[in-house]
Amino acid sequence: MTPEAPITQDVLTLPRKLPEGGPVNLIGLTREQLRDALIAAGTPDRQAKMRVGQIWQWIYHWGVRDFAQMTNLAKDYRALLAAHFTVALPEVVTRQVSADGTRKYLLRIAGGHEVETVYIPEENRGTLCISSQVGCTLTCSFCHTGTQKLVRNLTAGEIVGQVMVARDDLGEWPVPGAPKEETRLVSNVVLMGMGEPLYNFENVRDAMRVVMDGEGISLSRRRITLSTSGVVPEIARTAEEIGCLLAVSFHATTDEVRDRLVPINKRWNIETLLTALRDYPRLSNSERITFEYVMLKGVNDSDADARRLVKLIAGIPAKINLIPFNEWPGSPYERSDWERIEAFADIVYKAGYASPIRTPRGEDIMAACGQLKSATERARREKVALNP
Ligand code: SAH
Ligand code: SF4
Repeated sequence: MTPEAPITQDVLTLPRKLPEGGPVNLIGLTREQLRDALIAAGTPDRQAKMRVGQIWQWIYHWGVRDFAQMTNLAKDYRALLAAHFTVALPEVVTRQVSADGTRKYLLRIAGGHEVETVYIPEENRGTLCISSQVGCTLTCSFCHTGTQKLVRNLTAGEIVGQVMVARDDLGEWPVPGAPKEETRLVSNVVLMGMGEPLYNFENVRDAMRVVMDGEGISLSRRRITLSTSGVVPEIARTAEEIGCLLAVSFHATTDEVRDRLVPINKRWNIETLLTALRDYPRLSNSERITFEYVMLKGVNDSDADARRLVKLIAGIPAKINLIPFNEWPGSPYERSDWERIEAFADIVYKAGYASPIRTPRGEDIMAACGQLKSATERARREKVALNP
């Protein structure tokens, strides 16, 4: 401001520290960040807490995105909000529905990047598998996402936005006066889409805090599972700062094989990983850890592997989720035979661990674990071939 400029009421209500470059999207801001943004836009400090509560409820409880519909706010305050903010979700580019009811959304985010989100309906629950990064820095040799370079981390808003897009599509926002549904359509969230969530820790944490907040989407921390390939230094923080359930992509019982399948093992090997995992249930006050184990023919699926596995994890409250390998174009492995998977599951089960075999879902739309983004890329390649 130049020295001559008169200080008027208008100047005082101008944004004080809102970033440049258009309206700020409120989705994904923590309560504290939302408070700061409202104050920066001219909300008096003494009203800020109440306004946060009101706006939070509109956005996350009722699913309302148009400020004009936030009827418990004064008209001129709604106009002020509309002048400074938006409430915007990622754009749905395509939505595919599998024969088994699985839905896959291809979403476009800022910069024109694309990520995928998958909704898996089951009898008593519905699980939403969300992405945390565009691509992945890691290069697990059986994972299609791993063949794609990391493009960028998703923002907290883009992570929360995936949950909101699914709720929109499923028509899951409450209707005033209607009785509350007993079973939620999106009852569980798993961070098992594209990317390594613990390499985008702060955004994932903030997003999950929004999703868990009791005045909004309100999913319990026990209905959120974060899957990591084994970023050991962030595991204790996950317990302390998010407190959700943990799944770990274990996949091998010797360092030699795990180095090949999950190369992050060269940095933090099986023993180091297990030490971090032993502390997790106590730190997060949660029950058990899910060990994910992809079944690759002739690579990690022998009886000896199964026996080594139960020996390694002895003492850790655990469930072992066996994932039949999902092939993708050019993948270097094959899925283990069904009898082999069952024999492996049997050994694990007899050692006292639940050992469910994950039924591949949405295979016809390439929505199964580890296949994400491939269909999109393939479609793009086909388009290029048609219109070179
Ligand atoms: N980056 C995180 C989360 C995303 S992957 C992680 O690695 O844990 C989610 C799960 O799918 C992981 O257990 C991963 O190892 C598994 N997965 C990846 N590609 C797969 C494939 N082609 N078939 C079966 N499971 C796969
Ligand atoms: Fe990344 Fe997970 Fe795929 Fe490994 S399995 S490449 S960590 S997304």
